[in-house]
Formats: sequence, C-alpha cells, structure tokens
Amino acid sequence: MCVIAELVVDYSTILVGHLIRVQLVNQIRQWIREERLQFTDDSDIGIECENCGASIKTGRFCENCKNTMANNLSSAIEKPKPAPEEPKKKAEPKNKMHFLEK
Ligand SMILES: [Zn+2]
Repeated sequence: MCVIAELVVDYSTILVGHLIRVQLVNQIRQWIREERLQFTDDSDIGIECENCGASIKTGRFCENCKNTMANNLSSAIEKPKPAPEEPKKKAEPKNKMHFLEK
C-alpha cells in the first residue's frame, strides 16, 4: 500500500510539474506575442508569424505582414464607409385619452 501511495504522489508531482511547465511556456509565448519579451537576434529559436509562418523573434507577425496590414489598414481608413444615417424618429403624437361622452 505504501508503494502505491508513493507512486500516486510521484505521479501527481510529475503532473503538477508538467502543468506548471506548460503554463510557464504558454505565459512566455503570450509575453512574446505581446512583445513584452523577445528572442535575442542571435537566438536559433523563434516563433512563427501568425500570418505566413516566417520565423520571428517577437510579436505576432513578421515585418512583411505588419507592413501589408498597415497598408491595408491605412487604405481602409482612407476610405471610410459612409456612416449609415440614423432614421429620424418622427415625433409621435402623444396618445390622448378620449373620453366617450354619453
Ligand atoms: Zn508574416
């Protein structure tokens, strides 16, 4: 019984350790995506551009994709869609109470 208990403890420690490691990796990846962290320029590892898959050191997109998106964004800003005119509400006549005189 003692052995089994130890095994369970061992296993849960491994599981927790693994979970913490996974969380850490996720956290670091998130920081890199948010450009709070970045791989050094001489680092062999990096992350992939979310658009084209190119290797980048930080952020979500490579320079190319960033430029393309910036262009798309500015052209979208240059041609703003005409704002839909709000239908003017007609002033509704107040419901007057009618008394039927008998
Ligand atoms: Zn890219």
